Amino acid sequence: MNENESFDLIVIGAGTGGNGVARMAAAAGWKVAVVDSLPYGGTCALRGCDPKKMLIAVTEGVDWARNLNGKGLEAQTSVKWSDMIAFKRSFTDAMPGRIEAGFEKAGIVALHGQARFTGRETIEVNGETLRARHFHIATGARPMYLNIPGEEMLTTSTDFLELPDRPDRVVFVGGGFIAMEFAHISKRAGAREVTVLEMMERPLGNFDPDLVGILSEATTNLGIDLRTEAKVLRIEKDGPGFTVTHETPEGKQTINCDLVVHATGRVPNIEHLNLEAAGVEYGRNGIKVSPYMRTTNPAIFAAGDCADSGPNLTPVSANEGRIAGKNLLAGKDEREVNYPPIPSVVFTLPQVASVGLSVAAARDKGLAFDTHFEKTAGWYSSLRVGARCSAYKILVENGTGRILGAHLIGPGAEEQINLFAMAMGAGLTANRIKGIIFAYPSYASDISSMV
Ligand SMILES: Cc1cc2nc3c(=O)[nH]c(=O)nc-3n(C[C@H](O)[C@H](O)[C@H](O)COP(=O)(O)OP(=O)(O)OC[C@H]3O[C@@H](n4cnc5c(N)ncnc54)[C@H](O)[C@@H]3O)c2cc1C
Repeated sequence: MNENESFDLIVIGAGTGGNGVARMAAAAGWKVAVVDSLPYGGTCALRGCDPKKMLIAVTEGVDWARNLNGKGLEAQTSVKWSDMIAFKRSFTDAMPGRIEAGFEKAGIVALHGQARFTGRETIEVNGETLRARHFHIATGARPMYLNIPGEEMLTTSTDFLELPDRPDRVVFVGGGFIAMEFAHISKRAGAREVTVLEMMERPLGNFDPDLVGILSEATTNLGIDLRTEAKVLRIEKDGPGFTVTHETPEGKQTINCDLVVHATGRVPNIEHLNLEAAGVEYGRNGIKVSPYMRTTNPAIFAAGDCADSGPNLTPVSANEGRIAGKNLLAGKDEREVNYPPIPSVVFTLPQVASVGLSVAAARDKGLAFDTHFEKTAGWYSSLRVGARCSAYKILVENGTGRILGAHLIGPGAEEQINLFAMAMGAGLTANRIKGIIFAYPSYASDISSMV
């Protein structure tokens, strides 16, 4: 690389929100470089959704065997942690090389190092200055700082996915989706003591309270110590392990454990970028972007978790990147990003899934609606797999029959929620959904009975 080499576009961050933009521009004949300080692939493919769900696939086997025990399935299963991590690596280890090879084929220059703006058209990487007409920033998110003593002893979700051995006594700080999913993985993999410490009155604050209540009961029945209104005050070294002190309504309590995992949330990863030098404004929620994904410097775009835009989910990053790429190549604000109903899933067992408005949000908007809420453990699709917890809550607008929100717990929720998202995006009413003929028996076929 020559000092001051110039590009049409430099993409900062080789994850979901960045890679597509680089490819689009290269396909249009632009001279493009991508830079990342970590192996190429980003959070989802290497340190988030994909690896996590490979571990969940293994623990699903445990759940399946337990649920059908005494129903004809005799064998009981257990998890060999090191093999499970090796299985995950069979996917993640190959990914950065595959992405780089794809970039090379597309004529994209792949750079490694931390990028930092030195001006409106320049960045510095490994002491070298690179110039570009345009930049696209997709630097993702990082775990937030907790500002508590002993914070440096926390294990991140990234480290958790690489643990060579199964933790025996593990504490999760926070009760969001990462904590709940990883706690379920740990317990089914055979960890002796698993504790989740959530500061608020319930975990998973963005999900329906009734369904979270059902999940909380299932979590406790699994043997996880789920503590709410438990604010972590400090972490101390205790021999080879740790002591976690937390405040509860009953006073201060401590837990001894082998591992403490950070699961309190993630914030935009932008503090090392020196955005001021580029004239790119940002706030607490990330880089300020227009509906066209353009930053306050018109030559610079941003997308994904680092931007002050849609929810921090992989498909949202990909979609925002696509819109940024279209406007970048068009040379004008041609395509506005819009957010259809976005489904999200907590991949615990049972899964919890949600799309659209919660009951509280629909009330706040002054909407008139019926709430269809039912526990479905007695339904055929739950009985067939021995699932003990399943339920749905669907909000149907009075008069129009529009689906305002869908909230599900149980087997199949991760796919059923996509059907609700599709139906809501297409404006299908409850009556239209009832009229659709789904393959039977399938989880999809349940949805016409939910509306
Ligand atoms: C444990 C976990 C589980 C998750 N599970 C799900 C899930 O099930 N479903 C879902 O939809 N979402 C999930 N997410 C969220 C999802 O992973 C993110 O929303 C998505 O990956 C964001 O993509 P991105 O391109 O914006 O950022 P990232 O994929 O994080 O990419 C940012 C890249 O920028 C690089 N970078 C940062 N700063 C610099 C710099 N200064 N110079 C050079 N490079 C830099 C980083 O190294 C990184 O590779 C999960 C996240 C975590 C942590």
